[in-house]
Amino acid sequence: MTVDLKGKVIIFSAPSGAGKTTIIRRLLEAIPGLRFSVSATSRAPRGAEMHGQDYYFLSPDEFRKKVANGEFLEWEEVYTDKLYGTLKQEVENIRLSGNHVVFDVDVAGGLNIKRHFGNEAIAVFIMPPSIEELQKRLEARATDTPDVIAQRIAKAKYELSFAPNFDKVIINDNIEEAVQTTTAIIEHFLAKQ
Ligand code: 5GP
Repeated sequence: MTVDLKGKVIIFSAPSGAGKTTIIRRLLEAIPGLRFSVSATSRAPRGAEMHGQDYYFLSPDEFRKKVANGEFLEWEEVYTDKLYGTLKQEVENIRLSGNHVVFDVDVAGGLNIKRHFGNEAIAVFIMPPSIEELQKRLEARATDTPDVIAQRIAKAKYELSFAPNFDKVIINDNIEEAVQTTTAIIEHFLAKQ
């Protein structure tokens, strides 16, 4: 008999402002054995974000060196000159410890990770109720300049077209309901052999 100690892979993608971060935080509190995969990025920290907890904040040079060394499972230039990527080592460490890995990545990254892990992974798309609502949320968050918000909205419109390629789509028009639905979907996925 072989025992597979490797954890499963749970991927969340959504346009920025769809409420994905809140849903992921609540899911990590609700289900034991889940660990957040901390990505690397070349963007600057926002608000109270901490190195090693929210992201590994790297200079563009440090980031590109890791790309050249083949240290990333996937990486994307999510916004102009802003690189984001998943470190292979981060994912390996979590899975070998027997925990399940939770990803917060952009749509292209999410679909790449899903392709890599196949049935060991579930890819969930969090959908904002509308582009207008998304714009309101990004403005209320007040952490980005109008220019950055405009970039995020343009990208969101493009990303929404990929929703049908995900295993599950959750519309976040009510955060409590979205958290409940997400938790049920993930519990079901983890219970499957
Ligand atoms: P933010 O700047 O708002 O933290 O993130 C911007 C976008 O980059 C979000 O859609 C987020 O999911 C995505 N992102 C974060 N980490 C990664 C990563 O490792 N790979 C990819 N492809 N996207 C990421």
